[in-house]
Amino acid sequence: SKRVAVLTSGGDAPGMNACIRAIVIACERHGFTLFGYQHGYNGLLEQEYEILALQATHNLIQQGGTVLHSARCEPFKTDEGAKTAATNLTELEIDTLIVIGGDGSFRGADHLADFWHGQIIGIPGTIDNDVAGTDATIGYYTAIDTVVSSIDKVRDTADAFERIFIVEVMGRHAGFLALNSALASAADYVILPETFQHCDAELDKITEQIEKRRQLKGAISFIIVVAENVWPGGLNDLADKLVSKTQSEVRPVTLGHVQRGGSPVSQDRLLATKLGTYAVSLVGSDTNGIMVGELNGTPSEIALTETWEKDKPLNPSSMETMLTIMNERY
Ligand code: ADP
Repeated sequence: SKRVAVLTSGGDAPGMNACIRAIVIACERHGFTLFGYQHGYNGLLEQEYEILALQATHNLIQQGGTVLHSARCEPFKTDEGAKTAATNLTELEIDTLIVIGGDGSFRGADHLADFWHGQIIGIPGTIDNDVAGTDATIGYYTAIDTVVSSIDKVRDTADAFERIFIVEVMGRHAGFLALNSALASAADYVILPETFQHCDAELDKITEQIEKRRQLKGAISFIIVVAENVWPGGLNDLADKLVSKTQSEVRPVTLGHVQRGGSPVSQDRLLATKLGTYAVSLVGSDTNGIMVGELNGTPSEIALTETWEKDKPLNPSSMETMLTIMNERY
């Protein structure tokens, strides 16, 4: 019978626990022994693990975060680190390692494959959705909801004072979370890495829209969503520049780590459950060095290297919708 290990690594995301639950149950059904490594790749280096049995899954589907804990691990990036991890996996006689994480974690898994020749399967878990080979990543849908409910609240206070707010949203170097949360919260403008050209062009467009709206309606509130890492001088620089252009008060808001938290929404629970189950169905097969995902509602597999090398464009119809009803409106 096979011996499977699982770990969660990199930025945590709601639904990682739902995925662990599915893996525990699927392993139990197949008669596999499941080892849960703690603290991402640190657990591999320290041989810090526990055997995961069915009792561990009670109420797990609804919990945010990850019971295995996540972490970053610099020493693992070296050859020495990966060799230690390989030795530890061999010592435990692990057949298959399942890594739940983002593209950094998959780079790590690929690096490990240079030194360990067991089966490696990745499962995409990140709120950023910046992993090719799957339409969505575990945690992404919950993060959209979290951002939308935060922007709804910002809207209340922005309306009350008829103020301009800038809300910075996570996403690493991708605009998935910013674009879709801006659309779903009826934000007035969105600045995305995929469409950003230069500061002056964005500032001109924003001021033009604010002016048009003011002429039409008088005093207004105006909410700008900006993806993190896009604006060269950061959020405060954007705010300062807007103050001088619009002669109005501008309030910058960083949503920060609340975006990673919370009980997963149903879409993340479903994705996590399907991908966890699918990953375990591949244990012992010839498939190796891949990430499992879901494309058009169908389970998919993609080479780990392609998850970060392949471009993942924003959904074209979301882009089209944004151009029609947001950045070009009024
Ligand atoms: P995420 O999985 O959310 O993208 P990180 O980028 O922080 O998270 O990566 C998580 C961990 O994966 C890192 O702390 C490191 O241990 C490992 N890792 C990331 N990039 C590499 C790499 N190029 N080579 C080896 N290991 C890596």
